[in-house]
Amino acid sequence: MRVTLEDRFRSLLLSWYSKNARILPWRINPSLYKTVVSEFMLQQTQVKTVLPYFERWMHLFPSFKALSEAKESTVLMAWSGLGYYARAKCLHECARVFVKDPIYSYQRWLNCKGVGNYTAAAVASIAFNEAVAVVDGNVMRVLCRLLSVTELFKTKDAAVKIIRPIANQFLLKTDPGKYNEALMELGAIVCTKQKPHCEECPVKSCCKSYQKDTVHLCPHFVQVKRTRCKIQRYWIRDTHAFLLEPSTVGRVFQGTLRGLLELPTMTPQRLSAIGVGKLVFAGRRSIGTKDFTEQIYLPRKKINLESLILLPEFSNCVRVTFDQQQYLAFTGPHKHWISKFLQSNKF
Ligand code: SF4
Repeated sequence: MRVTLEDRFRSLLLSWYSKNARILPWRINPSLYKTVVSEFMLQQTQVKTVLPYFERWMHLFPSFKALSEAKESTVLMAWSGLGYYARAKCLHECARVFVKDPIYSYQRWLNCKGVGNYTAAAVASIAFNEAVAVVDGNVMRVLCRLLSVTELFKTKDAAVKIIRPIANQFLLKTDPGKYNEALMELGAIVCTKQKPHCEECPVKSCCKSYQKDTVHLCPHFVQVKRTRCKIQRYWIRDTHAFLLEPSTVGRVFQGTLRGLLELPTMTPQRLSAIGVGKLVFAGRRSIGTKDFTEQIYLPRKKINLESLILLPEFSNCVRVTFDQQQYLAFTGPHKHWISKFLQSNKF
């Protein structure tokens, strides 16, 4: 019988994966719930970032039922720092749907609000062995390189359109869950975006871009234009507390960061109320195609926070004591910066 490229690829891939799969918490005593939570967390996020969040999440919400009964603010607090907060809200919503009417197929997962093809395919194949191919950034990269696809893609969606049929053609229908996991694993640790490890790659003998020396050309995306923005903020504290406000960046980005807290922005009204003192920090963050530089200033003089929040300019702000902060949901960068400020205790 003729051995096809697909057969060779699958066999090399799975034999490599059986010896090299990373031991990850959601792979130990796997369950549908662990698979769903990990796949939501892993969307556009690296495994090493997800690990501490996953452990804490399982402790706080050990089941669909526990998650469905949690308040949104508690869910956001547990997600705080992981980014792309819409995922947390959708996962919370999915748990509520699941508790009422358990979901067991790709199509039904796809019908859940906020669940895209990637998550639906990953969950259905890994948890239910449904023969549906996962197409994420890792999979696209490996398959483009494997077949030396050098065509220029204008968007990620355009690339998915081309790669999905290929992914389905390569899928191991008898063990789709393991195959999908193996392919994503290869993309994550061997066929990486920058500097792929071709010499150690288990599938190099059937990789067309390796043979043709076109690895650096695949996949080929149009460069997205990025915009730079500047935001000025205040760090206002007293001996017990500091000031926060609901994310204003979230308003710009259609509520993505709704419900999360950040340091208050410096508006003209606030500037005339409390002036501006020393610049204490400048940090960077990126959301979508925007790159933000955030400059954080002290007020001109010492402020009494309790009186300050009575002023109309600060009416949307909250005074947060040092003890309360662990129960609140911050955006990732602000959580990190505030903890640095408090540790240094310089200002
Ligand atoms: S040989 Fe290189 S380019 Fe080809 S799949 Fe392996 S790591 Fe990727």
